[in-house]
Amino acid sequence: MTTPSAPILPAQDAMPTTRGLNFYLEDRSFQLLCQSVMDPEVFERARPHLTALGEIAGSELDALAAEADRNPPVLRPFDAQGRRVDEVVKHPSYRRMEEIVFGRFGLAAMAHRPGVLGFPDRAPQVVKYALSYLFAQSEFGLLCPVNMTDSCARMLGAFGSEELKARYLPHLTATDLAALWQGTQWMTERTGGSDVGASTTVARRDADGQWRLWGDKWFTSVANAELALTLARPDGAPEGTRGLAMFLVPKHLPDGSKNNWTINRLKDKLGSRSMATGEVTYAGAAAWVVGDLGSGFKQTRGCRTRCGRPGSCGAGCSRRSSTRGSGSPSGTR
Ligand SMILES: Cc1cc2nc3c(=O)[nH]c(=O)nc-3n(C[C@H](O)[C@H](O)[C@H](O)COP(=O)(O)OP(=O)(O)OC[C@H]3O[C@@H](n4cnc5c(N)ncnc54)[C@H](O)[C@@H]3O)c2cc1C
Repeated sequence: MTTPSAPILPAQDAMPTTRGLNFYLEDRSFQLLCQSVMDPEVFERARPHLTALGEIAGSELDALAAEADRNPPVLRPFDAQGRRVDEVVKHPSYRRMEEIVFGRFGLAAMAHRPGVLGFPDRAPQVVKYALSYLFAQSEFGLLCPVNMTDSCARMLGAFGSEELKARYLPHLTATDLAALWQGTQWMTERTGGSDVGASTTVARRDADGQWRLWGDKWFTSVANAELALTLARPDGAPEGTRGLAMFLVPKHLPDGSKNNWTINRLKDKLGSRSMATGEVTYAGAAAWVVGDLGSGFKQTRGCRTRCGRPGSCGAGCSRRSSTRGSGSPSGTR
């Protein structure tokens, strides 16, 4: 039997880390890509922001994302007086990430209002996608609310009445967090997300013309949202996707009172843990039609396709895996 000559110590420095890297400056291929797909003027304007977000993503955001995942959101259904409030309490690390993405970089607003990040007009979509790619390398889940808010603004802009646009677009496109109202889209029901045409949520009109919704939505991300776009079948409408209308359901009515929908619980997910996904019941929730009554599904599909950034988010996640796995700052080893 041999005796070890040196003591066996726990492994040190065994894990590669990306902490402290600038995810933009370290990614030469991405820099070249941005330069080649953006107009020179756009690239010059975007570059300082890409560099800034690259640095934040490799440091502050990375730490915040880990902390937020360890401290998932909590549902607060009632206030101290026992009134239904359906609030989602977020950890301070998540709030700080919201400031970075909605506020500092204006990712949800930049395609809708001029002036964000110094762009004289609305920022080109490609800038949004490039920034999303960098952000996703440290925090993926929060890009869901960003994307949902962005696409709510797009759908309302494209199909909403002038009254709805005036009331809600300034909030959906705000970069000041105190004024921002996040948006979301709740379509999926227990009948299955793939078969939207089987949706059972119904819409009925009161005598005064106000639409009201009854039904359950089974996967409701951005459960804290102030505004939800949702699909429901007006009484008497045909079966399938052809009979679905799109409705805007605010959390609070114009008079400030809480609308009649509740969050039954938050889901205990495997991933995107810091972003609240719930299960919601509409119990006569006041709702406003967006677009044509019979085109709800078509409108949803068209807008989500144009607005979605799953490509850049997925690419960001892959890039992070390869940078981390390679153990090399440049990710090229
Ligand atoms: C983290 C998370 C957040 C979400 N947030 C939201 C949200 O905010 N709003 C919202 O509306 N939805 C949300 N969803 C739901 C999402 O849209 C659905 O999960 C998705 O549409 C799939 O539906 P499902 O999970 O009911 O699966 P199902 O529709 O039951 O499908 C299960 C499996 O069967 C397959 N399948 C289904 N039909 C067929 C067929 N005809 N032929 C062959 N294969 C088939 C599918 O490909 C899948 O593999 C979220 C989901 C997740 C995981």
